[in-house]
Amino acid sequence: MKHRLRSLVARAAGAAGVCRLLRRVRRRSLVVLCYHRVLPPDALPEPYPLAELVVTPEALAQHASLCRTLYDCLPLREAVQRLRSDGTPDKPLLSFTFDDGYWDNVTHAAPVLEAHGVRGTFFVVTGLLGTQTAPWYDQLARAVVRLADRTVPELSKHPTHDDLAGKWIAEHFRHRHGLRLGHIVSDAKRLAPPVREEAIRRLNAAVGSLGAFDTHQDRLMTPDDARRLAAAGHEVASHTRTHPLLPQLTDEEALAELAGSRDDLAALIGGPVSSLAYPNGSYDGRVAGLARRAGYAVAVTMRAGLNRPDADGLELGRVFVSQQRLSHDDGALSTRLMELELCGAADVLFLRRWRSRGAS
Ligand SMILES: [Zn+2]
Repeated sequence: MKHRLRSLVARAAGAAGVCRLLRRVRRRSLVVLCYHRVLPPDALPEPYPLAELVVTPEALAQHASLCRTLYDCLPLREAVQRLRSDGTPDKPLLSFTFDDGYWDNVTHAAPVLEAHGVRGTFFVVTGLLGTQTAPWYDQLARAVVRLADRTVPELSKHPTHDDLAGKWIAEHFRHRHGLRLGHIVSDAKRLAPPVREEAIRRLNAAVGSLGAFDTHQDRLMTPDDARRLAAAGHEVASHTRTHPLLPQLTDEEALAELAGSRDDLAALIGGPVSSLAYPNGSYDGRVAGLARRAGYAVAVTMRAGLNRPDADGLELGRVFVSQQRLSHDDGALSTRLMELELCGAADVLFLRRWRSRGAS
């Protein structure tokens, strides 16, 4: 839906008191916000290629300021416990969650939350904590951008031009850089893991990358960072060991990712770990059962929507936070659009259904 039309709908809904009414009627509910990176506009030498996954610290501050007035904001584990308890609260519950464990979560997101008296939940990939290895989708996006920036004649001479990696580069180039990256990453997710790994290995070889972070600002947090977040009262939770798409794995492989990352984290922070974010939100009934076997009580997906007290704790919905979607044309936060997203009316008014988004 066009941006201006969405703003008009939000204004009309706000004037009609739709969100206030829905929050009142749905006091016993939990909204889980899904963020990834929190970066100032000029933080990186080159723009982060998956721009939809970035919000600025200023935007996060505005979100936190609005949410704490309308919702009872708690880390996910505590919020789910509260959701299950008896009684009728004054306000619905809301959790700020951050996927992947980027370094900027520690330097930019946590300080903003703390300044607003909010504690969040940070889902980390335990096998990448403190390493120089970038998540596979970052490796893919960076390499495609680098190669597509070359000229067409260079591209056509490239040895990977006729295979899968070459197809991605050509597709990205044809669509003028940036427009197709999300689709390319989505394509890559559907591949069998060995095929995807081989394509990314070839792309990395073509740009002379070993799969490490390009810049200091692109790295993931260290084990000490994770410990500091936990010590500050935030929840540090699991996003598996290597960020695989769990439905593609065997039971044994998936359990190693799920139980292994839980054990890694429990040892690291010295406390229980009971929350999980499925990488990319990808799960099915089998994976949810394996998560339960691995000891998780709470798991979040990328399925849109509010969570009611009777929600399955291992299939909780989230609201993917897109800074652009919540902003006016001039880039400033639209509190009405954000209220509309949070109260659940946006999915109905904007005709959205189940969605799985982004490289989370
Ligand atoms: Zn992720």
